[in-house]
Amino acid sequence: MRHLTPAQAAELRDAVAHAAKVEALAPRLMAVYRAFQHELDQRKPRCEQSGKCCRFDEYGHLLFVTTAELAVFRESLVAEERAGGNESPDKPQGRLALLAAGEVGRTANPGGACRYQSRNLCTVHSIRPFGCRVFFCDTTAAGWQETQYQRFHAQIKLLHEELGIQYLYVEWRQGLMAIESL
Ligand code: SF4
Repeated sequence: MRHLTPAQAAELRDAVAHAAKVEALAPRLMAVYRAFQHELDQRKPRCEQSGKCCRFDEYGHLLFVTTAELAVFRESLVAEERAGGNESPDKPQGRLALLAAGEVGRTANPGGACRYQSRNLCTVHSIRPFGCRVFFCDTTAAGWQETQYQRFHAQIKLLHEELGIQYLYVEWRQGLMAIESL
């Protein structure tokens, strides 16, 4: 996997910080996620909850996210931690710590797993990015997934244009590492 250069990471950080200030972004992005959920409810691809798809190196696939998705994910995570009383500006705890502290789950997770996977389950299920929502290892749904990915990713990409957000498209773990210091 090609790593972001320091300059690319800095560019992403700036773009995510800018996107986080765009108030219309979160509701617009969540509306896209909901529209996709409607499609998902119709098709119902099979999920065996093996957790393999979140262990990227083991499974042999990568997940990509956009600037807007990283911004909304981070803001949602911070909001959830605050609501749960887990957030402290000096000593972040809980799931926010995974983002802020950086070293947790960065490289040591078995199979190159996402830092938010725990016991084969996603600990950020409600705020996970689109790539996580659309991917299933159900081979009968491969064509459907590709079609949905193209369709809804186009909508997410358009959001960047409409809201004046720089569109960047990066690997999930790389993106998380880049925004750790925000
Ligand atoms: S955010 Fe959740 S669903 Fe997405 S890769 Fe991480 S653990 Fe898996």
